[in-house]
Amino acid sequence: MADTYWIKRQIDLLKALEKDEEKIKKRLAKLYLQDAQMLEREIALYYAKYGENGVIEFRKLLEAADPVQREQIWKNWESFAQSHPEYAHLTPQRENIYKLNRLEAEQESIRLRAMESAARDEQLITAHLSKVSERTRIGTNIRGGAFHKGLAEIASRPGRVTAADMSYYATTLGVRDYLITDRLKMAKYLQTDFAQGIARGDSYKKMAKDLSDRLQNVSRKDAHRIIYTEGTHVHAEASKEAIKEDFTEYTFSTYNDDKVCKICRALEDHGPFKLSEATAGVNFPPMHPYCRCRIEPHVSDWDKWMDDYVERHSTTKEEAQKIAGDFR
Ligand SMILES: [Zn+2]
Ligand SMILES: [Zn+2]
Repeated sequence: MADTYWIKRQIDLLKALEKDEEKIKKRLAKLYLQDAQMLEREIALYYAKYGENGVIEFRKLLEAADPVQREQIWKNWESFAQSHPEYAHLTPQRENIYKLNRLEAEQESIRLRAMESAARDEQLITAHLSKVSERTRIGTNIRGGAFHKGLAEIASRPGRVTAADMSYYATTLGVRDYLITDRLKMAKYLQTDFAQGIARGDSYKKMAKDLSDRLQNVSRKDAHRIIYTEGTHVHAEASKEAIKEDFTEYTFSTYNDDKVCKICRALEDHGPFKLSEATAGVNFPPMHPYCRCRIEPHVSDWDKWMDDYVERHSTTKEEAQKIAGDFR
């Protein structure tokens, strides 16, 4: 692997990305702790209301839920759907809420919380991806002024995080769907843990700890997968944007350490690929969850490339040589 300027820049950008990932991971860990504490409080109220001597009899939870509580669940769903219309399709049928027993009411409340956390995390994660994309766009823009500027200088600019970008990452990249799927899965775990814990007579203390651990572990694992994988995606897309005017082909590059999987290794050995045919998960990063691969422009005939460059940009041979030098 030649040590070209382009490769050095890519590696620096990926290092900067990893620093930002550490920051957002810390921030999310705090939020998941808060989520867990809120859940613990709710469970405490439950035990206070339906428990006797620190345990709840399962059959007590099969009685109809308190109408006030049902009404509250409905109102909470309504206001959540109002402030997040993109999540409104997850709202349960109103008449079904009025049929819930006590156990189901608690489970529904867990599901709503999970969706609230998905909506909140969507904001944080898509803002993070917008920042990553902006930095990579500027830092790889080969004819723009910033390609040869230090990363610190690029990073010191105010990051452009627009609502349009965030919405692109939420929908086109599928961050929202990933979060919804993951959090519904987590809510299912918690619902089952809760029902089973009550059925086997768990104390409040044990129940609170089990659910709190479950919520934090699962949320964290799933969020990290999304952040890492989509970070690679955004980085690769922004790199592609930067080169697509002047290059038609690329090669696939791995981190080249012993963690690289067979799929990515095979692509690295196989290229070049056409930029116009680049498809994430097929011949373009990310190939799979936690993939951290990238792309490099490929040119088989540099003399021809430089002639074309001069013509395309009505520029000098020297300029073309300078640009070519960043890739050879
Ligand atoms: Zn791989
Ligand atoms: Zn990979």
